[in-house]
Amino acid sequence: MDTSQHMDAAAMTLITPTATLPDVARNEAIALERLGIRCVADLLLHAPTRYQRMLGWRSIADAIAGVEADTSDDLEIRGEVISVRRGFGRRPRIDVAVEDPTGELDLIFFNQPWMQKRLHPGMRLQATGRPREYRNRIQIANPRWDRLDDDASLVPPDEDAGPELHPVYPASDDITSHRIKAIIRGVLDDAVALLEDHLPDAYRQSHGLPSLADAYRHLHAPVFESHVQTARRRLILDELLLLQLGVMMKRYHRRTHLHAPTLEYSDDIQTRIAARLPFVPTDAQRRVMNDIAEDMRQPIPMNRLLQGDVGSGKTAVALAAMLQAVANSAQAAMVAPTELLAEQHYRTLKSMLADAPLRLELLTGSCQGSVRTEIQTALAHGDIDILVGTHAVLTEDIEFRHLGVAVTDEQHRFGVHQRAALRNKSSDETHSPHQLVMTATPIPRTLSLTIFGDLDVSVLDEMPPGRSPVRTDAVDQSAASAVYEDVAKRVQAGDRGFVVVPVIDESVSGLTDLHTHLKYLQNGPLQTCRIEAMHGRLNTEERDAIMERFRSGDIDVLVTTTVIEVGVDVPEASIIVIEHADRFGLAQLHQLRGRVGRGTAASRCVLIADPATDDGKKRIEAMVDTHDGFQIAERDLEIRGPGDLFGTRQSGVPPFRFAALPRDLELLALARRDAETWITNDPLLTAEPHALIRIRMLKAHGQWLGLGDVG
Ligand code: ADP
Ligand code: MG
Repeated sequence: MDTSQHMDAAAMTLITPTATLPDVARNEAIALERLGIRCVADLLLHAPTRYQRMLGWRSIADAIAGVEADTSDDLEIRGEVISVRRGFGRRPRIDVAVEDPTGELDLIFFNQPWMQKRLHPGMRLQATGRPREYRNRIQIANPRWDRLDDDASLVPPDEDAGPELHPVYPASDDITSHRIKAIIRGVLDDAVALLEDHLPDAYRQSHGLPSLADAYRHLHAPVFESHVQTARRRLILDELLLLQLGVMMKRYHRRTHLHAPTLEYSDDIQTRIAARLPFVPTDAQRRVMNDIAEDMRQPIPMNRLLQGDVGSGKTAVALAAMLQAVANSAQAAMVAPTELLAEQHYRTLKSMLADAPLRLELLTGSCQGSVRTEIQTALAHGDIDILVGTHAVLTEDIEFRHLGVAVTDEQHRFGVHQRAALRNKSSDETHSPHQLVMTATPIPRTLSLTIFGDLDVSVLDEMPPGRSPVRTDAVDQSAASAVYEDVAKRVQAGDRGFVVVPVIDESVSGLTDLHTHLKYLQNGPLQTCRIEAMHGRLNTEERDAIMERFRSGDIDVLVTTTVIEVGVDVPEASIIVIEHADRFGLAQLHQLRGRVGRGTAASRCVLIADPATDDGKKRIEAMVDTHDGFQIAERDLEIRGPGDLFGTRQSGVPPFRFAALPRDLELLALARRDAETWITNDPLLTAEPHALIRIRMLKAHGQWLGLGDVG
């Protein structure tokens, strides 16, 4: 006998492959694997999506009474087949009448013509499903059924068992939820007995949480609804707690082990910085600048997130931070997500710093050869004060002599890897620059608390003066020509505009492509305008040249892909038309809209779409409903759901299995409070009762949080 194929339960472990379980057939193991289930632990983690309330065996009279009383639970009936007939209707159906001593009802099998041969009068069977009334008959459509012995009893026992809860699992064409349930039930008792709880008893008791074993037992085999609630609460809190412990440990490490240069912020420096700004800062800018200045005076590396809607004036804040570094003879770096944006920052800073006695350089991927080498050398010598660049700044061979502050302009491409790379841009492992991360699409508070929990957050919640709000309209394709008439009219009046399309080349998707659309506009509605195409495939000089001509007014309308999404700042642009708007992400649409309304003219954003999906519709609605970046971000989170929190994928944070935000906000707050207390009392979780939770936390979050050096 091949013992590996017939493992007894006693030898089962959590990593026993499902394929070797006695009750799992070969093809079932394959089907499970496709669902990501390879071993016993995976089975435990395969959480039901919902629970079906199911009454037990009921007499047919009771079933009928239930329908009449409008209770909608599933139940089981047992009866004898009276007739099997082919039914009539649009779908092939077999009608089977069954009776027990109390009454009669129909079982209807749709699209299962073979049932006619499998069932015959006189046979006894049990069937489960939800009875309902249809044309004065009570029927159960597509019931699950099993044959009974011919002498099986048809009278249910007297005692009234309450409803049972049946988990419904994510399943596939190859394996049903029902089978998955049976397989999980088969291992459940033995498997949960193997679980070691990482939460100390005292903690569990004080929070009324079940043990890990009970939580999984009740997740898969609840007797009462309350079982499901407490099990889920425990598993959600667990997940959030592990994450928060990691984040808090990281924060502790940053605060106690890393050193940053202390950068003074005297009255003199403050005055000199203010003199560099071509405008009076808003109150919000002033407040945030002070937060940052205060942080950078400390020997602890600043780790601050600056959230500010498009156009709120983040660049000036960044400049102030960088100048504080330079005033203290340290260097500053500013990293942007695209070359276009890096170039724009460079230009903006250059004009603001026109006569300043400092050296500002730009380093991007297209900067190669001797130019690059020269910048490299100058940086290492400390001759360059401020370096603006793309990720090229993060490559290993770029070293600063004394990096005081690193600013990352993430827009909405939020990632933690970059920040880690910047932190390590120094030979001394305990030295770290101050870091300022700027984001244009505000990260919902829900998220910033979770993933970016070791960041301090500042918000620019005030727009610079003189902005007019952007009117947003959603129209369908048929209204497009009227929209382009408006574009032409605005151009006539001296304004400029953008037309955004989703793809560059003609594609099978049937989406409007840049080249075709450009021709259409040139020969049609916008023939009176000077139009140019702009997209990511042009090289830097070409793009620069086009942008320059658009800025100066030589071009009226830019037909473009999302390359203009970030940073482009042309106050005369008063209209942006977005074709197939439902194809863009919400954050992206909001960014695009931010390209207009930067001057004093009444601006307009037109979303052209015939949304094919619900989500597409919701995104468009959200855009029309609100201009508030925070609300947009929360809506985005709702639409995308917990599986795809924006930024999380890039940031490497493992997705939640049980938790979902913003739904579990309350538990998140609890987890955060508790994690903070734990880490304050036991910073590295080395105390005995924390041994297991430490291991599990590091396994889940050690890598993306870079906790390797802590552990
Ligand atoms: P963000 O990067 O936050 O989207 P920017 O820093 O590019 O915004 O600023 C948007 C525009 O507002 C720029 O033209 C900038 O010069 C201008 N600006 C910023 N702050 C002020 C202010 N306090 N007063 C007037 N204009 C400002
Ligand atoms: Mg900006």
